Amino acid sequence: MIQGPKTHRRTKIVATVGPGSDSENMLNRLIAAGVDVFRLNFSHGSAEHHAEVAARIRRQAGYAGRYIGVLADLQGPKIRISGFAAGSVELTAGDPFCLDLDTAHDAGDQRRVGIEYRALPEQVVVDDILLLDDGKLRLRVDDVSERAVDCTILIGGRLSSRKGVNKLGGGLAAPALTEKDRSDIAGMAEVDPDFVAVSFVSSSEDINLARALLADVGVSPAIIAKIERAEVVADYDLLDSIIKTAEGVMVARGDLGVEVGDAQLIGIQKDLIKRTRRLDRLVITATQMMESMISNSMPTRAEVFDVANAVLDGTDAVMLSAETAVGQYPIEVVTAMSEAAVGAEAHPVARTSRYRLDREFSSAQEAIALSAMYGANHFSEVRGIATLTERGVTPTMMSRLSSGLPIFGLSRQHKTLQRLALCRGVIPLYFDATAFAAEDIESRVMEFLLDGGYLSRGDFILLTMGSTMGKTGTTDLLKFLPVE
Ligand code: PGA
Ligand code: MN
Repeated sequence: MIQGPKTHRRTKIVATVGPGSDSENMLNRLIAAGVDVFRLNFSHGSAEHHAEVAARIRRQAGYAGRYIGVLADLQGPKIRISGFAAGSVELTAGDPFCLDLDTAHDAGDQRRVGIEYRALPEQVVVDDILLLDDGKLRLRVDDVSERAVDCTILIGGRLSSRKGVNKLGGGLAAPALTEKDRSDIAGMAEVDPDFVAVSFVSSSEDINLARALLADVGVSPAIIAKIERAEVVADYDLLDSIIKTAEGVMVARGDLGVEVGDAQLIGIQKDLIKRTRRLDRLVITATQMMESMISNSMPTRAEVFDVANAVLDGTDAVMLSAETAVGQYPIEVVTAMSEAAVGAEAHPVARTSRYRLDREFSSAQEAIALSAMYGANHFSEVRGIATLTERGVTPTMMSRLSSGLPIFGLSRQHKTLQRLALCRGVIPLYFDATAFAAEDIESRVMEFLLDGGYLSRGDFILLTMGSTMGKTGTTDLLKFLPVE
């Protein structure tokens, strides 16, 4: 049986670092609790601080002997109200409220607040519904002039400075990469992230632009397209072109849920995860997964089920935001999320695959990768799949099929291993096959997995590799090997 040093959880955990979790000690404990990828949220904090935290993460991952990814999440054009003189106000249903270009930065009150997004009046019409603070408050647009949007409060509540504004149904479109994002990208070499998330993506051009700007400063992270605009999920061609251009997507349920409504979101989440996996890309399911644990030491049953549902949908990773960034129970929430994932993974739905029976493969690599999964899943003697990889393409393809077996992603490339930290079912392990003579590689792989406690004598594994070692895209061998 697999007795890896860690519990074998297939679904990966992304945890946002913040004031509650960015010390060396907390990072160390979060890694031990099971975090696979840390998210640096560029909506908060200085670039210098993010670079410093990234260095701490690398250090702690090194101490723990684990490959841990770093994801830099750009703020993007989140549309926000300006400030209130009192810091916050109480809005009452039925009262008028105005979003006003001419109200000064910190001069908002119960009747009006400033707005920095100058194009707002051009992008709304009478009867539009505007959602404030992640949908907690609702306004109906009554009148639009050149410099102000007059509304009636439909759902009131407390509103504090700088909260977000969304439009029901989507369509508040500001370009995806803001000046701040560009300046954050310019400093990205200091952070050297494995993943960069682009917020409010509206086309594949946004991804290409981000990638080009990152290349200009000498970094080439995987790009995660945050899917959080209603108009993007309404257009499958657009959505697929975004998925294909990026290395992965985030089901950014915070903003998306506000724009489409939670009742629609469940179907969209399932659809998006399925489409992304079919296109061989990675997918993170994010936001309010264990929200109550910001201040409670236990999740609600609904939260456990939400994580479990995303696992059964096939997500690569589940994400924690405020829960770990500012919450009171960062370690407990990672543990609870991990248990919820492991529980869901025990269900046959999480392990059963349909193997792309209805389609042609497009490369030898794909044929080998998927054959390995088919063979492994249907032969009870097999305890795992080992794959020698340069760029991580083969293990990523393998993990697009569901399985209960571990995929050992063996590479000499640290960057590849850090990226594989996000990939469901893949255990990234440092292994330099070029250090051995070709005829010794198989026995060295066995020895390595045996020594690591991942396999036992008498087990069998499937091994894939390229007949030309050390070259990318050349996987062309599949072998059935006894562990002895
Ligand atoms: P955010 O993105 O937390 O940066 O807003 C995630 C989401 O919208 O769900
Ligand atoms: Mn968002």
